Order: sequence, then structure tokens, then C-alpha cells
Amino acid sequence: MAAYYGNSTMLNKQTLMKYLSLPQPENKVQCMYVWIDGTGESVRAKTKSINFVPKHPDELPIWNYDGSSTYQAEGSNSDIYLHPVALYRDPFRGGNNKLVLCETYKYNHKPTESNKRWSCFEVMEKAKDQHPWFGIEQEYTLLDEDKHPFGWPKNGFPGPQGPYYCGVGANKVYGRDVVEAHYRACMYAGINIAGSNAEVMPAQWEYQVGPCEGITIGDDLWMSRFILHRVAEDFGVVVSFDPKPIPGDWNGAGAHTNFSTLGMREEDGLAVIEQAIERLGNKHELHIRAYDPNEGKDNARRLTGRHETSSIHDFSAGVANRGASIRIPRQVAEERKGYLEDRRPSSNCDPYSVAEVLVRTVCLEK
Ligand code: ADP
Ligand code: MN
Ligand code: MN
Ligand code: MN
Ligand code: MN
Repeated sequence: MAAYYGNSTMLNKQTLMKYLSLPQPENKVQCMYVWIDGTGESVRAKTKSINFVPKHPDELPIWNYDGSSTYQAEGSNSDIYLHPVALYRDPFRGGNNKLVLCETYKYNHKPTESNKRWSCFEVMEKAKDQHPWFGIEQEYTLLDEDKHPFGWPKNGFPGPQGPYYCGVGANKVYGRDVVEAHYRACMYAGINIAGSNAEVMPAQWEYQVGPCEGITIGDDLWMSRFILHRVAEDFGVVVSFDPKPIPGDWNGAGAHTNFSTLGMREEDGLAVIEQAIERLGNKHELHIRAYDPNEGKDNARRLTGRHETSSIHDFSAGVANRGASIRIPRQVAEERKGYLEDRRPSSNCDPYSVAEVLVRTVCLEK
């Protein structure tokens, strides 16, 4: 396979190291502010020098950016405010430097349309007695800089699906270096990454974040996506979170969301899980609208009832059933407690929206 050498890999990383290994003044910390843009899918970032080592996001200044360049404002009134909400160690710059996840607010101090964290946070506060936990399985596809799946033959397709899932060997998996670098970078940053595996379609991968309680699932998942884009950039590879990157007989990409409350995790929690499934069944359309950034349009390409998915039009649940909307893992059924897996969220979903609607339906009954 001939690699495609684009802009990022053409620059010499060893020359870069000469500068990055210069001693950094102790009272100068680089803070990279990261936020979600107007698409509700892409992340943006810019850097600010801070003259102390921040320990908590509240210590950092509110900042701003040009929202007319991120699909978030008109040019005539374009400042959007950045409110730091979560702090991570920076795996790219190292030392005391930080990645800073931010919420976005408009000129009138109202949350922007793509700021889904604000309302998620309110709902998590109301349900905190039930200790909601989330674990998200983030699937994604690696692409060349020319948008062709990474490692696929340039004039055709790899052999049919079958040997690739959890595979090993240069003819089975494509792009493992990106996966390994991302895993360690997430651990270093302080993200609760739980595992990773090669997926059914070649060049498709998964990692899991969680279990995380409450709002942290959204914070950690968004920052893990930023880190993935940034790591892949170093390798000259592109990450796609599209839920069906290749049409036809190729698996799509999801963000299975594993969910539990304290009651589900306790003795005979299975009864609480079954009650939750009944509530979810009554709100199927509401959930589908919250499970991708385009109110179900993206997921319509993926939730076909084939390729280990349920149909977007029907709600179903079952033990160990990977063709259902909701799966009760076999072990959970045997132990009669644990969690449920909602298989509907799309790979490009906003985890704040997914977590919010789950808690509204299951914990707050609205
Ligand atoms: P699958 O068998 O569907 O591929 P994975 O092993 O990829 O499942 O992911 C399952 C995820 O479920 C784990 O990463 C973990 O974060 C999450 N999880 C485990 N227990 C709980 C729980 N009680 N509540 C919520 N999430 C949980
Ligand atoms: Mn400028
Ligand atoms: Mn999985
Ligand atoms: Mn998977
Ligand atoms: Mn799963």
C-alpha cells in the first residue's frame, strides 16, 4: 500500500522536536481552548498563554472567538464567548500545558444552538440522586487525506467483511499506530478511556469511554474526539465520524450508549432496567431525533435493520440481541442487575444530547 503523503506528514517532526524540547518558563502555561462549532460535530481550538498553572476550569479566563467563521454568528455581531468547563493534561505539548474544554455562549450570554452541554448539565443536576452512569462505544473510520478509507486499494475494495473485527496482521487491520497513540494520549490527558478494538469494516475502529457519572461522559468523549483528530493529523490520516461512510455491504459506525442508574446496579436491578426499556419504547422518535446532529437524517443511512442494527422506524429490545434498539447484555440478564445498551446513537452524535434524553426519559419521566 502506497501511503499518501500530505501536508502534515511532509513537515519534519524531528525538526519540530528541536523547538518543543526548549525549556518552557514555569509561569507560562499554554492552554488550548477546545469547543464544538456550529455543525454540532466538528471541534475547533485556539491557544492562550496563562501565567499560572490552572487546577480548575473556573480559574481560567472567559475568552472569545469569531463565530462568523464557525457557522455560529453573523459577521456584524460575531463574538462568541468561551467558558472553560473541563481541564485535561495536554498530551501534545506535555508539561503543565492544558487542554480546556469550553461551552459556547452568544453575545446575549445565552447558550449557542450547538451548546448542548448547558441543558444536559441541568438535567444531570436534577437526577444526581440516581447516579446515572454512561459508557459510550465510539466507532470511527480512518481515511486518507484524499478521503478514501485508509489502507483500502485505490481502485476497488478490500475482501468482504469477516476477518477484520478484532483482527491482527497487516492484511487485517489498517492504521493501528493511530489507535495506540490515541489510547495513551487519552490516558495521559485524564480521560476515562475503557478499551479499544478493530471493527467489522477494515479501517474502522472503536474505543470506549466510561463508565462516567453524569456530565463527565460528554466532556470526556468530546475531548477524546479532539485528541483523535489531532493524533491522526500528526500521522497524515483523517478521522471520519460519519455513521455510514461507505454505502453498501459495509458496517456503519455507531456510538452504543451503555446506561445505568443506581437502582439498576443494585440487587434485582433487572426490574428497573425493564421499566426503563418500557419508558424508552414510548419515546422512540424523540430519542432518534436526539441521536445524531441532524435529527435522525444521518442515522437513517445506518439504522437499516441490517449490519447489526435495528430499523430506525421500530423500537425493539432483547437479551444479547445485536439487531435490537436496546440490548440487555447476557451477563446482566444472568446477574439480574447492571445496565442496558442503547444501540441507536450514531457515531457523530452529541453525547450531551444522548445522555440528556436518556435521563429525561428514564429518570425524570419527561
Ligand atoms: P460491547 O459488548 O457492546 O462491544 P463494550 O465492551 O465495547 O461492549 O462496551 C461496554 C461499555 O459499557 C464499557 O466500556 C463500560 O464503559 C460500559 N459500562 C460497564 N458497566 C456499566 C454500567 N453499569 N453503566 C454504564 N456503563 C457501563
Ligand atoms: Mn485575529
Ligand atoms: Mn464494543
Ligand atoms: Mn462496535
Ligand atoms: Mn456495543
